[in-house]
Amino acid sequence: MTSKHPETLALHAGWRRDSATHSVAVPIYQTTSFQFDNTENAANLFALKELGNIYTRIMNPTTDVLEQRIAALEGGVAALAVASGQTASAYAIQNLARAGDNVVASTDLYGGTWNLFANTLKDQGIEVRFVDPADPQAFARATDDRTRAYYAETLPNPKLRPFPIAEVAEIGRKVGIPLIVDNTAAPTLVKPFEHGAAVVVYSLTKYLGGHGTSIGGMIVDGGNFDWEAHPARQPLLNTPDPSYHGAVWTQAVKPLGPIAYIIRARVVLLRDLGAALSPFNAFQFIQGVETVALRMARHCENAQAVVGFLGEREEVTKVIHPSTLTGQAAEWAAKYLPRGKGGLVGFELAGGAEAGRRFIDALKLFYHVANIGDARSLAIHPASTTHSQLSPDEQIQTGVSPGYVRLSIGIEHIDDILADLAQALDAAR
Ligand code: PLP
Repeated sequence: MTSKHPETLALHAGWRRDSATHSVAVPIYQTTSFQFDNTENAANLFALKELGNIYTRIMNPTTDVLEQRIAALEGGVAALAVASGQTASAYAIQNLARAGDNVVASTDLYGGTWNLFANTLKDQGIEVRFVDPADPQAFARATDDRTRAYYAETLPNPKLRPFPIAEVAEIGRKVGIPLIVDNTAAPTLVKPFEHGAAVVVYSLTKYLGGHGTSIGGMIVDGGNFDWEAHPARQPLLNTPDPSYHGAVWTQAVKPLGPIAYIIRARVVLLRDLGAALSPFNAFQFIQGVETVALRMARHCENAQAVVGFLGEREEVTKVIHPSTLTGQAAEWAAKYLPRGKGGLVGFELAGGAEAGRRFIDALKLFYHVANIGDARSLAIHPASTTHSQLSPDEQIQTGVSPGYVRLSIGIEHIDDILADLAQALDAAR
């Protein structure tokens, strides 16, 4: 596929037709296993001397099309699909860090990722050091010789302040530390590899799937990071792996291209931990991804109209969106989001938590759900739901005031979206 345009790649990358039946739609290869040609072929596949299908926990032809398509859309070299966005974040880190190592991460993260980092990875001996992304140098200050990766989200909610990808990626590259970026909120809008990120992770569950039918995740290898430049920094890729007859991944994979990182994630982590995506869900995501560029454009257009509408309402004290930022954050929004400012909008109600609850209960078109990135419009009141376990102080630190409402603006007609918001705001007075 020679095109660089997301609209075209989303429909064509990684697939033309089925070799056996000439089917144009990608078939769902709902099989656990693949018959070997003979014993020599079987041995070669297991030894990675030949590449091919063995067992669906490690690879599957339906899932392979999805992986190739997302890698192409992202401008990366290869990708690995997994069972959820949570798995993508966990494997992305575990592929580089083991007990005793550490990672430096932005404080502005999805709550599930925060928990994974602050508790579960900690229990596994991997320390995550959280730093304020407003100051890129904070990443450098938190780094030591056991730091294996930097981690951030492109457009974290609820604050919706774009992360300084290039600024932090550059700090890491000088010392052999890759930047891993969760781009869940901004597919096709931001391409983190263009700014120096080394690895991109996604929850496919959100905009890429787009229709709220399946949970899935993806890790994309940019192929743009020299894992060998500072070998002591990345021991998991530069020292013999006892689980693979002592293979050194950077050397073993060289003939296949710059894909040591993603191959290890597949043949070690997915093999051993096993959070594979089902072929049926891969098919659902392939369908969703076909229209992601179109949908993202409409999400952005509708969200921008909602920002204008909310700004005029007297009961709204603040509108949170990349287009309403000031100072350095506004400069980063202009730099990283020239293709559109995303579909998420936050706002604060003068009436506080009580008004927030009344507003949510009055919505008729918007769904009241914990998800984001669906084609439908969605809303939630974080203080009484996703952030209710935090203390009032912690809520404020994470950007959630009592009257904060988060909207994920869908692709319905804008008149219907604004009409629903108007009647719910009236009811919340
Ligand atoms: N990353 C972000 C930014 C998310 O919003 C989410 C889910 O809400 C995840 C990761 C986790 O994804 P999943 O729910 O597919 O496990």
